[in-house]
Formats: sequence, C-alpha cells, structure tokens
Amino acid sequence: MRKPIIAGNWKMNKTVAEAIEFVEAVKDKLPSSDLVESVVGAPALLLNGVKYFSTGSELKVAAQNCYFEDEGAFTGETSPKSLAALGVEYVIIGHSERRDYFHETDEDINKKAHAIFRNAMLPIICCGETLEQYEANEAEAVVSRQVSAALRGLTAEQVTNAVIAYEPIWAIGTGKSATQDDAQKMCKAVRDVVAKDFGQDVADKVRVQYGGSVKPENIKEYMACPDVDGALVGGASLQADSFLALLEAVK
Ligand code: PGA
Repeated sequence: MRKPIIAGNWKMNKTVAEAIEFVEAVKDKLPSSDLVESVVGAPALLLNGVKYFSTGSELKVAAQNCYFEDEGAFTGETSPKSLAALGVEYVIIGHSERRDYFHETDEDINKKAHAIFRNAMLPIICCGETLEQYEANEAEAVVSRQVSAALRGLTAEQVTNAVIAYEPIWAIGTGKSATQDDAQKMCKAVRDVVAKDFGQDVADKVRVQYGGSVKPENIKEYMACPDVDGALVGGASLQADSFLALLEAVK
C-alpha cells in the first residue's frame, strides 16, 4: 500500500515571517502521517524557520533544489549536506522551471538525485512535457526519457523510496489541469519506466504524484486514479486553509 504524499511547492514566494505564520496556522491541524504525508517545499532561505517552527508536528519539509556536490567553491548554491543537517526530508529536483529558466539537464538532475540519497534525504523528481510535445503525442516518450535519466545508477532500494512528480508543463500555474485520464495514463507510464529499469516490485512501491493546477476542488479526481499517489501543488499550497483543504480531501 503506497502512502499518499501531498507536497506544496511555494516556489519563490513568502518571507520568513509569512512562512512562520503558515506553519503556525497548519501545524496542529495536519492529518496523521499514518494516513498521508504532508510536505511543504519552501525556498532555501525559509527552510530553517519552517523546520524550527514545525518541529514535533506532522509537517515534513522539502527544499526546492540543491547542488550535487556536498560542499566547496560553488558560490550561491545550496549544499545537500547542509539541508540534511537542518532536518530537511525531501528535495524537489528537475522542476520544469529549473529545467527551462536555469538550463538544468537530465544529467544534472541525476547527479542531484545521487547527492540527495547520499545525504539521507529523498528526492521528489519532476518530469513533464511541453504543450507542443503533448500535442505531437510525444508526452510518454519525453517523460520516459526524463525519468530513466534521472534514476540512472540509483539502487532499487533508493528508487523504491523516491517520489516522482508528473507535471505537464502546460498545466503548471495555468489553471488548465490535465484530465483524470491523462494524469492516470502518464503516471502509469512513469511507473512502467521504473518497472522496466528496476523491476515490477520497485515500480509497485515508488510513489508517483500528479502536479499542475491541483486545487482542493479537483484533487479527489486525481487521487482516485490507481497510479496517482499524491500531488505536487503550487498556487493552492500557499494559503494555510487551502493547503489543509487539499490534505482533508485526501485523508
Ligand atoms: P501549480 O504548480 O499547482 O501552481 O500549477 C505546480 C508546480 O509547479 O509544482
């Protein structure tokens, strides 16, 4: 049985004070982590505060990126070793905004996945096709390539514990969410890649999220899909009441 995981992705939003206000508003109202994992992905600058103020609650914390080396002369980068030392549990990698605006390659994402496991955290690995690729019927091929590349060289045990988020780029922040059928088909395609590369047993355990304009009003539709184990949520994760409503709909 795969445990659902709902992860907020705040992107480059909130000040430290706003982040703490959010944590204070949600931390005693989260569902039991026996039922669903509640995660917020905060900007690097806010992680310390979010971690500190959520200690002892059911909230888990994700970074939105990290570098693939543990430390050294890499001005401006975020060390996975430092994230682990803060108690951060997850790191989102390969988000389409990072691939697109910051030119991250499949190879970078694979190195980051290795660095995250090396530091005893777990990756939330994003994949997804553009509108042009979707319309050209290339979505499965593109996503399969991305997933296979991101997981290269990991052990079966590591992949079992990874989270993979399928996010069609045309659905991110647009209000135009994928249909239930598309989400199911693509999350199954992700799982099939894992089965091909690591075996069916690993594929049956890895958690696959759908992301792209998920809201409290539509999350149930996605969660009803047999291959969708959770959601990666941008806009609708920014407000405490909306984040709680997403979790409420899932538990
Ligand atoms: P959205 O963003 O929910 O605002 O569409 C999702 C994401 O980018 O992870």
